[in-house]
Amino acid sequence: MILIGVDLGGTNIKSVLLGDDGRVLQQASLPSHAEGGPRAVIEQVHRSIETLLADGGVDRARVEGIGVGVPGSIDFTRGLVLHPPNLPGWEEVPLESHLRARWGVAVAVDNDANCAALGEAHHGAGRGIAHFIGVTLGTGVGSGIILNGRIWHGQHGYGGELGHTSIDLNGPECGCGGSGCVEAYIGNRFMIARALPVIAHHPDSALYRQATRDPASLTPRDIAEAAAAGDALAHEILFDAGSMLGAAIASAANLLDITTFIIGGGVAAAGKPLFDGIISSANRRVLKVHRGTLSILPAALGNDAGMLGAASLLG
Ligand SMILES: [Zn+2]
Repeated sequence: MILIGVDLGGTNIKSVLLGDDGRVLQQASLPSHAEGGPRAVIEQVHRSIETLLADGGVDRARVEGIGVGVPGSIDFTRGLVLHPPNLPGWEEVPLESHLRARWGVAVAVDNDANCAALGEAHHGAGRGIAHFIGVTLGTGVGSGIILNGRIWHGQHGYGGELGHTSIDLNGPECGCGGSGCVEAYIGNRFMIARALPVIAHHPDSALYRQATRDPASLTPRDIAEAAAAGDALAHEILFDAGSMLGAAIASAANLLDITTFIIGGGVAAAGKPLFDGIISSANRRVLKVHRGTLSILPAALGNDAGMLGAASLLG
């Protein structure tokens, strides 16, 4: 039995062929062509599957199912992808039926952060852990709840959005229309917007030159690299970001009695300062019964988590 996993992003489509033992047989990465709208993107998904099969020398008759992670919400009842913010022109797209019609196999579509969490559950840092929340830090703050080894979708399919946990009643406006969401503090562009004025007051920081001369070029990765090289301000910015995520994590732990969190995505590579911030902030906010019991783990699969989890949707 061969399964295909597809991680459909706003920039690239990453895909993988998995053998029946869960072994990776082949991988591919193609541009999404998001600017071309749903038709162009779906064509690229088909092309990525064709590429996988051709490069892997696998007959399509051996493919048992296709799983796809998409950067948006899913209406599981109607089989629709609902307005993913990074895929222009997508309002309600029946991606599942398009794929089933073309390939004639079982198809499952889920949110990309849910797929990343499931990928970690099956192949990464979550192996052997029955309950955890996977968090993916990037443009947004994605997350997926794994309960008894499976994605917990909630009542309508939209569950697991830790990024839109409000940590301040009067906080900044978030892309979702809410305010004070943790994403509105530590989503990539929000994190940079908060960091720039702070860096501007610290000429001693390694980030000062870039932040004052070419602020648009500053990325969380630059901050992570500066922190790794020993820059105190960069360390502080990441610790601060971790503290904010820690507040949301404490709320989740108190609400769900889930105490393991697996943190991935670009900023997670910053490592220690971010994780120290998460742990100290979360431990200050969880109920006494949880204090000191939280397990905050780095994700193990990097950018491969989404496609591996997508393939596991059918497993
Ligand atoms: Zn929000």
